[in-house]
Amino acid sequence: MVVAADQLEQAIEIANQPIPKEIVEESKAEVPEYVPPSCPKCGAEDPVLESAEPTNAWLCEACGAQWSDPEADADGILNELGGERLAVQEPEKQVLRLR
Ligand SMILES: [Zn+2]
Repeated sequence: MVVAADQLEQAIEIANQPIPKEIVEESKAEVPEYVPPSCPKCGAEDPVLESAEPTNAWLCEACGAQWSDPEADADGILNELGGERLAVQEPEKQVLRLR
C-alpha cells in the first residue's frame, strides 16, 4: 500500500492523539461481567445455577450446599450501577448489611 506523504503524516497525527476523555469514561462505565457467587459453605467457585426464578438458586457440586441469592430490588440495582464505594467482589450479604 502506498500512502502519500501528507496523508501518512495525517494518519500518524490521528493515531498519536490521546483518546478523548468521554470515550475513556464510557469504557470504564461498562457493566461488569456477571460473576457467579462462590459457595458460602466451602468457597468453591462455579456453582450450578438450578433456578433463576424468583431468585437465583445455586447448588455447590463440591459440598452439596444449596442457597439462593437475595431478591434483587430497585435499591440494589441502583447501588450496583451507581456506587463505586461498593466493591463488586463483596458478598451481597455484606452489602445488604451496610444499607
Ligand atoms: Zn460448597
